[in-house]
Amino acid sequence: MISSQEIQKNKMVHLNNVVSQRIKIIDQTSFILSESSFQEANNLRKFYLEKMETIAFDTIIIHKNTSSMNDDLLASRIGLIPLIIDACVCVDNEVCDVCCKTIRFWSKTNRVLSQEISELCKPGIIVCNLERDQEIDVTVITRKGTAQDHAKWSLFDAMYYEPQSKTSFKFLIEMNSEIIPIESIIEMGIRYLK
Ligand SMILES: [Zn+2]
Repeated sequence: MISSQEIQKNKMVHLNNVVSQRIKIIDQTSFILSESSFQEANNLRKFYLEKMETIAFDTIIIHKNTSSMNDDLLASRIGLIPLIIDACVCVDNEVCDVCCKTIRFWSKTNRVLSQEISELCKPGIIVCNLERDQEIDVTVITRKGTAQDHAKWSLFDAMYYEPQSKTSFKFLIEMNSEIIPIESIIEMGIRYLK
């Protein structure tokens, strides 16, 4: 079991290297990459938009669904719920218990909200509405993927940069959900640039 203090320490170690010294966080939606080039800035942008791995619900098994929503629509709504799981650097996500979690949930609630499925879900998203005597019983399995596989693995609505000079680039991020702090996003970028 790793304490949050140790995680914090690890993060500081990660950030305390040459690449990170070239990145300066401005706020939760922007940072500056300096001593860089157009090519590196482009590569970093492409990494974030296409290659960065995140975790989403991949397999959705509907055991029972008596709601007015059909199974396909229910599954696609569940699949798009953002998950609050930090990036995982495992090689084989099929056997990793951070990336691959199986969760079964059953609900008869009037308004089924995302947090009923798991505390990993971004809360407050309506999954479906149920009338009296209607219910859903679903198993979901998470998997690591990239936005190239499917949009549900994308964290960003937009990601672009404005050159400040020939060697300095201001990155602007539009997240589709504010679930991952910019420090973690930058850490993944640093790992990619190293
Ligand atoms: Zn993993």
